[in-house]
Amino acid sequence: MTVRRDLHQLSIHADARAMIERAREEGIETVWDRLAAQEPQCGYCSLGLSCRNCSMGPCRIDPFGEGPQKGVCGADADTIVARNLDRTIAAGASAHSDHGRDILEVFAWTAEGKTTGYELRDPDKLHALATEHDIALDGRPDKDIARDLASALMEDFGSRKDHVSFAERAPEKRAALWKKVGIMPRGIDRENVEMLHRTHMGVDNDYVNILLHGLRTSLSDGWGGSMIATELSDVMFGTPKPNMSQVNLGVLKKESVNIALHGHNPLLSDVIVQAAEDPELVALAKQKGADGINLVGLCCTGNELQMRKGIPMAGNHLMQELVLITGALDAMVVDYQCIMPAIVDVAKCFHTVVISTADKAKFPGASHISFDPRRGIEIGKEIVRKGIEAYENRNPDRVRIPGEPVKMMAGFSVEAILGALGGTPAPLVDAIAKGSIRGAVAVVGCNNPKVPQDYGHVTLTQRLIENDILVLVTGCAAVANGKAGQMVPEGAKLAGQGLGAVCQALSIPPVLHMGSCVDNARILVLAAALAKHLGVDIDQLPLAGAAPEWYSEKAVSIGAYVVASGIYTVLGVQPPIFGSKNVVGLLAGGLDDVVGASFAVEPDPEKAAVLIRRHIEEKRKALGLPFIEPSSIHPPGHAQAAE
Ligand code: SF4
Ligand code: SF4
Repeated sequence: MTVRRDLHQLSIHADARAMIERAREEGIETVWDRLAAQEPQCGYCSLGLSCRNCSMGPCRIDPFGEGPQKGVCGADADTIVARNLDRTIAAGASAHSDHGRDILEVFAWTAEGKTTGYELRDPDKLHALATEHDIALDGRPDKDIARDLASALMEDFGSRKDHVSFAERAPEKRAALWKKVGIMPRGIDRENVEMLHRTHMGVDNDYVNILLHGLRTSLSDGWGGSMIATELSDVMFGTPKPNMSQVNLGVLKKESVNIALHGHNPLLSDVIVQAAEDPELVALAKQKGADGINLVGLCCTGNELQMRKGIPMAGNHLMQELVLITGALDAMVVDYQCIMPAIVDVAKCFHTVVISTADKAKFPGASHISFDPRRGIEIGKEIVRKGIEAYENRNPDRVRIPGEPVKMMAGFSVEAILGALGGTPAPLVDAIAKGSIRGAVAVVGCNNPKVPQDYGHVTLTQRLIENDILVLVTGCAAVANGKAGQMVPEGAKLAGQGLGAVCQALSIPPVLHMGSCVDNARILVLAAALAKHLGVDIDQLPLAGAAPEWYSEKAVSIGAYVVASGIYTVLGVQPPIFGSKNVVGLLAGGLDDVVGASFAVEPDPEKAAVLIRRHIEEKRKALGLPFIEPSSIHPPGHAQAAE
């Protein structure tokens, strides 16, 4: 028999709890029910000690030392744990990089005039990227420049270069270190394929060697596939600028056709925004009795739309079933990644139509409309029309939209941040040097039903900002902090005196929304800009990363490339590595001597905040900046660091 947890153990948000309660009343199964049904989960897998890489297995290593200590082939715990982790990194890096390739292909087709609904909306960024790649501008048409840039970036996926082109953005010392250690990413596809090769039975059995290639694979994501996705999305859809938006289930409108855009890739959602403004479709919605068409976002497709267009955000990962349970959603349009197959079953309890669009991501039971960017706007209109038709089937008596939306600010691209600072990182560096901002932390990643939804993100962020640490957020962490009211300029009052004063002077929140998961690449670019400005390497800066509620393989790749880039990172959910003391020792300390940064695992966000603050103070001391003795950093709690 499964035990149902109290609603407050499932989510910190009232809108989520109201919908989980409704699901329980109406017998609708959600992610929390399915997690409970899986418990207790497999101990071998949780420790990373099971292997099914070949059919001599599956094999398991006994963590207590009484049973088998080797798989059938002779692989020990170190090899098996390292191989499993690295296959996870490869899956995450591949997901981001395939997203990047999809954007790149459409960028190339747009340059060739073969698409509908796409433009090169940021010519300044196009020209800057072209110059970075030694492509002549010379007054040439933008489409010609874009064609050359697309061709140059296509090479980054192959194996004809000795490094991916954006690796040149890293500080010289970092790039030299990657070369010395042998982890400079050479080609995006190459590193991922080599990872699968190395982890085949009988190839790489040295856990150190395996894990180093894991770092190289992750770097091909952060400084390769993800960075390509972000940069070209900016050229095609516009580089984000700060804008005010809204968040939570209250963004749904009782009187409107509600269409949620879920997944990751802005290619589809951008044309749907255009289609939803089509006068004929707006008239059709009105003819069916609605007052208009209301688009809302979910997960990272939502982040892409909110960053660039201020489209309201319905929620993060664990809200995808709950938004359906409002009974107010007419269509959920999905592309790929982080979309639970369960949404199709939940949608069947209501009138909602689930529309899958990517031929590489089909969902049994969903309506599939194959998205072809060469007919982007036409297909966008077809999808919106389907949402309007579904609205006719909505039962108003089944509609329950909980609460009112919360305001949040989005749109902090590196260009926007540097723009707000007068075009140079100097004011930020000065504020860090004086101690009014003690450092910066990227709080990123997912929800995981093993953690009360958003508790980790919001608590950690609160503790950091009240101690004058600027927080940069992406992905589901951004949605969490937006819902908690920490992402508006008035949020300055939640920050410590130093950070609060800087935020007030610039009219910005103490928690800056830098975008979707691929947009973690923006954080790398910002870190590199700060390091270059100071003439140091990234690992010398008072920076840290955190993924308090991560679940996905992509998050593992992100964590790995952040550490490999020199940034200490704290994970809130235990990764499946604790079956090997050697692997844990390398990742949680040994890497300091290799790449100048390592991981920590701390499920309690209060304690994670203390770890991060200590780390930041140590980095400040090493740089000769005003410093707080680590012993005077308060234990978990709400205390603010004394100057
Ligand atoms: S690779 Fe080795 S440990 Fe893994 S399943 Fe095959 S025999 Fe077992
Ligand atoms: S943060 Fe995690 S759950 Fe959220 S959209 Fe990104 S990968 Fe998916």
